[in-house]
Amino acid sequence: MENKEKISNVENVVIIGSGPAGYTAAIYAARANLQPLLVTGFNSGGIPGGQLMTTTFVENYPGFPDGVLGPELMDLMKAQAERWGTNLYESDVVSINTDSRPFELKTLEGTIKANSIIIATGASANRLGVINEDKFWSKGISACAICDGATPQFRDEELAVIGGGDSACEEAAYLTKYGSKVHLIVRSEKLRASAAMVDRVKANPKIEIHWNTKVEKANGAEWLERIETIHSQEGKGEINIKGLFYAIGHTPNTKFLGNKIDLDHKGYIACESGRPETSIEGIFAAGDVVDSEWRQGVTAAGTGCMAALATERWLAEKKLARTIVRETPEPEKKLNSSNFNEDEVNEDTFDPNSEWQKGSYALRKLYHESKKPIIVIFSSPTCGPCHVLKPQLKRVIKELNGKVQGIEIDIDKDQDIAKQAGINGTPTVQLFKDKLLKKQWKGVKQRSEFKEAIKSIL
Ligand code: NAP
Repeated sequence: MENKEKISNVENVVIIGSGPAGYTAAIYAARANLQPLLVTGFNSGGIPGGQLMTTTFVENYPGFPDGVLGPELMDLMKAQAERWGTNLYESDVVSINTDSRPFELKTLEGTIKANSIIIATGASANRLGVINEDKFWSKGISACAICDGATPQFRDEELAVIGGGDSACEEAAYLTKYGSKVHLIVRSEKLRASAAMVDRVKANPKIEIHWNTKVEKANGAEWLERIETIHSQEGKGEINIKGLFYAIGHTPNTKFLGNKIDLDHKGYIACESGRPETSIEGIFAAGDVVDSEWRQGVTAAGTGCMAALATERWLAEKKLARTIVRETPEPEKKLNSSNFNEDEVNEDTFDPNSEWQKGSYALRKLYHESKKPIIVIFSSPTCGPCHVLKPQLKRVIKELNGKVQGIEIDIDKDQDIAKQAGINGTPTVQLFKDKLLKKQWKGVKQRSEFKEAIKSIL
């Protein structure tokens, strides 16, 4: 269903944001028969699914004794929200008119009217702004080690992570899988990460911690080759590295609110402690966009629940709720929608007519033999944005009724192919026809972009 078909005249509640807070709010509001509309976010504020999409194993979310991959956890929350009747709207909210009743939310595509709103837009990863950052962005500098760590350029090279929190420690440990050595650059003399994470980093022989050190400048020819540092006592230094990853905290995603809703001095939405009500009646907030202190997946989910319950009560009190009647009280169960376990095809399992296959064998065969356009997604196992993009590409292929064939290449497994294709980050999508590269995209893009490009070569 396209976005515009999902919008009713006036929504009971629009939830903005698709992290743990947004999806939990959606699950509760949907189970209250309010049929919420959840605006997933697209370009603003990081990728749909929120910060857990750029994490590997989440080991502290209750209910998963052996840990769960962040993107997989988000897939499960999304499936649960959809199962109970949440409508998803893939767009960004650009502004909210808080003076009108119902409220008006301006999105990239149009305007949505809603009797109540839950803001769960989270926070975005900060950039550092070192000299030459723009020049080497995606050519050695990245904000997401978990997404980009497996790219060929980082293999067996020295790499660096800046930051001293849980993210920095997690990313440094993760990168030791790929790099020959990881420099963890900490601006103070201590790590603020949790004790377990600090122990892990200190016990890893491939990680060297540089205390009291700041990075000033990135240098190199085409690709990053070294950074200039400054130590608080010892002065200037240099480290030769091929990859630099930022893990220096986050900024709440509140820009689109203008000055319509009260914020605290750090820019987070101001709510009374432990309450989801904002300064505007009928607008509630949950998750990292209100929380500068705890910022955990489980606290975000908890406040999402509170916001939905408060919204439900408020709508009932104002006699604004229009609840739906379910045809069956028990919606059909959703299977785990994760696609990470798809099997790679080989000589025996390859199907020349399949719409979607995985692995280098399929790529070689279709590249040489298919008469149709082929669309290749280069992914890595822990890449959250790949998780967002793959179902979108599959939808495009379905909507084009098999006129195009899709292939997934895991760059972790098929390093040589990734190198040949010049891949320096995931997801990268390449569109081929008759052995010619027609177009390439890096990162998550709208379905319509892929569709138009494919249609133009059919
Ligand atoms: P964070 O805890 O805010 O840490 C940010 C780090 O970046 C701090 O060490 C800070 O240094 C440093 N920093 C900030 N600005 C800098 C600059 N300009 N130059 C150099 N360093 C700079 O952020 P986070 O690590 O992303 O974690 C956010 C939240 O998510 C936390 O609550 C964390 O517990 C949680 N998290 C949990 C897990 C997990 O449990 N698996 C994984 C990731 C994140 P100072 O210490 O000097 O301020």
